[in-house]
Amino acid sequence: MTVFDRLEAVFPPDRVITDPVRLRTYECDGLTYHRATPMVVVLPETAEEVAAVVRACAEFGVPFVARGSGTGLSGGALPRSDGVLIVTSRMRRILSVDLDRRQAVVEPGVTNLAITEAVRDRGYYYAPDPSSQQICSIGGNVAENSGGAHCLKYGFTVNHVQALEIVTPDGEIVEISEDDFGYDLLGAFVGSEGTLGIATKITVRLMRAPESVTTLLAAFETIEAGGQAVSSIVGAGILPAAIEMMDALAIEAAEAAVACGYPADAGAVLIVELDGPAPEVESQLAEVIAICVATGSFEQRVAASADERAKIWKGRKSAFAAVGRISPAYIVQDGVVPRTCLGEVLAGIDALQDEFGIRVANVFHAGDGNLHPLVLFDDTAPGEGERAEVVSGRILDLCILHGGSITGEHGVGVDKARYMPRMFTDADLDTMQRVRCAFDPGGRSNPGKVFPTPRLCGEVPRVRKGSPGEIF
Ligand SMILES: Cc1cc2nc3c(=O)[nH]c(=O)nc-3n(C[C@H](O)[C@H](O)[C@H](O)COP(=O)(O)OP(=O)(O)OC[C@H]3O[C@@H](n4cnc5c(N)ncnc54)[C@H](O)[C@@H]3O)c2cc1C
Repeated sequence: MTVFDRLEAVFPPDRVITDPVRLRTYECDGLTYHRATPMVVVLPETAEEVAAVVRACAEFGVPFVARGSGTGLSGGALPRSDGVLIVTSRMRRILSVDLDRRQAVVEPGVTNLAITEAVRDRGYYYAPDPSSQQICSIGGNVAENSGGAHCLKYGFTVNHVQALEIVTPDGEIVEISEDDFGYDLLGAFVGSEGTLGIATKITVRLMRAPESVTTLLAAFETIEAGGQAVSSIVGAGILPAAIEMMDALAIEAAEAAVACGYPADAGAVLIVELDGPAPEVESQLAEVIAICVATGSFEQRVAASADERAKIWKGRKSAFAAVGRISPAYIVQDGVVPRTCLGEVLAGIDALQDEFGIRVANVFHAGDGNLHPLVLFDDTAPGEGERAEVVSGRILDLCILHGGSITGEHGVGVDKARYMPRMFTDADLDTMQRVRCAFDPGGRSNPGKVFPTPRLCGEVPRVRKGSPGEIF
């Protein structure tokens, strides 16, 4: 008996994929330079089926990896050639919507945007809005604790998930909720990148759509001036729904791809969105425009219609893909710095461009200091890919040096595991792995991700003197 026999006993043939050509579809996520062909792919339709796969993996000592839509940018859903890839794309039902309680219960394969679309007519929405929201799954959002442009004001996925049904790595189906007493297991699971089990049902908070929304595009000659405007807006006590910035190279790419009509001669554009009661939005808009002018903005455009608003956002939301128009290959980086250090870090990135002869386009959630430098290279030019990789790592060093983080929202996955020791001590990493071991002592749930060196869960790291056997 093998794990294949067990899976074939549970699933119809069209939901167990072993054909080598079809398996290749699942070789990578949005980070295409890490690839592996899974041993087998299964397409469950219920939590019980997910549990059956996970139990089969436990029985045969086989690792498993969950996959939603595969848009992750850190190789989190990279399969294992010796493991089972559990794809949630057939778990796409919105199970219930309860507007009195302002919540929806959904399956993990439901796309982020589908939740908003299900309640928009009734004046509600789901707040976290990754730029990939048309295709990324809510299960992937939970695993990555995904953010988006509007997380500055409304928070990340963790602030909008109220309860989860999960399949634990030994195949049990359990529920965890923000109402539970004791340890915050829900908080531990959100952002755990598939290493603590698989979410099979997700209860999300729904928000009332704001009475008024207004979107401003402000153009600056330099990115420093745009950065100064961001500091002044926040310093004035205004909390916009979003403040996004793009530099000249990112503007050029977006313009080439989607003709979003940003001022062609701008060194930086700032998108500021304000929402709330209409009179408040109106007075804040006047204040924000005045700040932008005072900090050197040479053009301000306020979207006059939903179409104009959509056009402004189109440029920003398509920026990652758009960069493909001006560079054959690029690395999407994701780092965080305190907002007050934005100027210094951007100057550091500029210096790296000159030192290595590599272009970097900057797109960022300016309000919360979450940078997405896009490190451009030509993969046919000898050595250029390696130089881009060095620049990418040096950008993360800059973030750490300024008290920031190696990831804001794309996660660690397989790609950034090697950077974890730059940010955390051995003791930090050991503590995190012990949480993981509590959920997954067999180390079968998405192994090889997040941590540079896996810890054997049976290991006793140190024994406190005088207390034989006591682990601390
Ligand atoms: C163009 C583009 C723009 C993006 N913009 C943003 C952005 O603005 N903000 C942002 O935060 N991210 C962004 N991302 C990254 C990505 O879309 C998010 O990380 C998203 O949450 C991944 O969802 P997914 O369904 O594609 O997950 P996948 O890529 O399939 O998986 C991601 C991780 O989640 C785990 N996983 C998947 N489903 C489950 C489950 N049910 N239970 C447990 N673990 C699971 C996987 O094992 C993996 O570790 C962007 C990506 C692209 C390509």
